[in-house]
Amino acid sequence: MMTIATAPAARALSVALAGNPNAGKTTLFNALTGARQHVGNWPGKTVEKKTGALVRDALRLDITDLPGAYSLSAYSLEEVVARDFILDERPDVVVAVVDAANLERNLYLVVQLLELETPGVIALNMIDVATRQGLDFDVARLSEALGAAVVPTAARRGEGLEPIVAAIAAAAGAPRSLFRLDYGPVVESEIDALLAALAQSSLVLAYPPRWLAIKLLEDDADVAAKLAAEAGGAELLATATAARARLEAALGEDADTVLADRRYAWIHALVGRAMRAERAETLTLSDRIDRFATHRLLGIPLFLAAMWLVFKITTDLSAPWVDWLDAVLTGPLSRWMLAALGALGLGETWVASLAVDGVLAGVGSVLAFVPVLLALYFALAVLEDSGYMARGAFVMDRLMKRIGLQGRSFLPLMVGFGCSVPAIYATRTLTNQRDRVLTGLLVPFISCGARLPVYVLFAAIFFPARAGLVILGLYVLGIVVALGVGLLLQRTLLPATGEAGLVMELPPYRLPNARSIGFHMWQRTRAFLQHAASLILMTTLVIWLLTAIPLGGAGTFADTPMPESAFGRVSALAAPALRPLGFGSWESGGALITGLVAKEVVVSTLAQIHDVASATDAVGTTTFAGDLVEIVTSFGRAVVETLRAIPGLVGINLATDEAGDDAALSAALRASFEETSGGHAAAAGLAFMVFVLLYTPCMAAVAAERHELGTRWMWLSLFGQLAIAWLIALAVFQLGRLLGGG
Ligand code: GDP
Ligand code: MG
Repeated sequence: MMTIATAPAARALSVALAGNPNAGKTTLFNALTGARQHVGNWPGKTVEKKTGALVRDALRLDITDLPGAYSLSAYSLEEVVARDFILDERPDVVVAVVDAANLERNLYLVVQLLELETPGVIALNMIDVATRQGLDFDVARLSEALGAAVVPTAARRGEGLEPIVAAIAAAAGAPRSLFRLDYGPVVESEIDALLAALAQSSLVLAYPPRWLAIKLLEDDADVAAKLAAEAGGAELLATATAARARLEAALGEDADTVLADRRYAWIHALVGRAMRAERAETLTLSDRIDRFATHRLLGIPLFLAAMWLVFKITTDLSAPWVDWLDAVLTGPLSRWMLAALGALGLGETWVASLAVDGVLAGVGSVLAFVPVLLALYFALAVLEDSGYMARGAFVMDRLMKRIGLQGRSFLPLMVGFGCSVPAIYATRTLTNQRDRVLTGLLVPFISCGARLPVYVLFAAIFFPARAGLVILGLYVLGIVVALGVGLLLQRTLLPATGEAGLVMELPPYRLPNARSIGFHMWQRTRAFLQHAASLILMTTLVIWLLTAIPLGGAGTFADTPMPESAFGRVSALAAPALRPLGFGSWESGGALITGLVAKEVVVSTLAQIHDVASATDAVGTTTFAGDLVEIVTSFGRAVVETLRAIPGLVGINLATDEAGDDAALSAALRASFEETSGGHAAAAGLAFMVFVLLYTPCMAAVAAERHELGTRWMWLSLFGQLAIAWLIALAVFQLGRLLGGG
């Protein structure tokens, strides 16, 4: 056959950049490809793939910026993405980007990358920082031990780029990687045994055999699944289990702990030989902070304080803005809309009612979450970007493991006391899907701030002498139920995977980057608006429609007494189901149904239903200019209040200004509960509060669950909560009745 001569074809190599988060991968990527990219790190779980190309004479590099990872075990999404890319896409060269100022910590990943046996180059990045810290590297020695070229770079200054390109070109042509970490005689003999067994498996054609053997010893879920899928895999897995058992019996420790320890020891020894710290024993600032931040005992109060701060930021800093939005929507905007409709001759019609009580109210309940979410994402981004989150998770891991969760789960549960919606979104920071789902299902049981007005009103009516105690008891009940449901789910639908991934690698502390934080806050909040807005709006509109439709009564559309509206009829249908709980009236049913939209409206619905003047007062008359002034001045007030809230963040302020002293409403409720409970009003009142505590928090939380956990878990959560609320409220009422609570 004849070959056609062509111009010297550009040699194309595929190159992957891998490394710990913040090692400078993206900076190096940008410096090499010149592509304009977002530089900075994202807290949370967004995995992004960036590719770009570099052309040098006859060489073309197609470069992929892999997500940051601390190891290549299948713990987090980032790790799996990075690992699968290297294993399945087979890049010609992997460039491991390491932070020279944190060499030892960064080499843990490098060692695992090298075990994948893809030709590698090591970019000893941030060499400028390391040099300033007085660190000095024996590059030749490092390179020899790692079996790969080591090139010092300062990506941010564009230093070391040409040597990296040259090393990549050289590595691509070189024979297989020479790297081999010696795990010691016991482990090595088990690796050999597994290698012999693996020889029959077809997996060795696709993956490096030694790596497979090591992963099997580590009981890696992903490799086990790959094996299980092929013929004869089960036998091999049994061989691996036996090897692991022998190893654990011989060394008295978990196999994966043994292997991790060996890697750390090997790396420690290597760094000892190949790196000199000029100033003896220079403790970096990170190390010094970590003495406190990761201290066994001191670390916990420090973490609790940080969580308290997040909680306060989410609630206190956003509160003035929620109020402002509410005031603008229910004040000036409602007036303008009514005025405009009036001008069109539609005032006092169902159109006006739909516009104000349906659409504006719905938009309001969506927008009310925006300041809350912005504040939460701000706090989360600062925690993640600064590097503190990893420390907090590390400190809490031990405690949270006892209830089958990871250290990071504490944060969403804490935020849940403020509002379930941001709390469910905060589960995103967890490192695996199972923990995200479990935490997301427990959050709604934590009593959010919107439920408090209901407790305050009912406790004042039915337990005037012990209102505080009753309210505290409800909060405790919420926590107890969350714990109980958590334990139940672990035994059933969500068994522990053992993949919680104890945080061992702590990223260096960094000053958070304002642009990255702002970008992140906006992205996430926009995602909420896209996913939740329609559901919340729709529910509000459905309820409005139900209250507007007259059913067998005297009223006309949008002007019908509540009991004779479709809403009243539907609520009456719920009443029999509530009868055993002591509050089987259409009024209670109706309040609980509107409570599905938002707990904030339970009290106002009760007031409306019992026909006591509600808080939503008549729309007054002002001028357009007056309205504008009001919007601006109330905006100014919100700014001032936000600033005033900042010093208060560290203080504890549990004062509730929600005084449930509406005498008419209290009397009406007392009479109504007296009647439905057969004379055990207090027991019924308590059952009602318990029901409010435990059933679905609100539509926004449901939307958040659908978005974060998926539709199936959302339904489970919705109906599970209704069932639990019903059962526990039943127990409370029936017990209360037996004990004669009157
Ligand atoms: P990635 O998470 O690995 O993609 O890291 P980035 O590329 O986002 O870099 C993290 C931070 O380190 C950024 O603020 C960079 O500007 C900075 N950085 C990256 N390379 C260097 C370097 O060589 N020297 C110094 N001083 N800073 C660097
Ligand atoms: Mg990056």
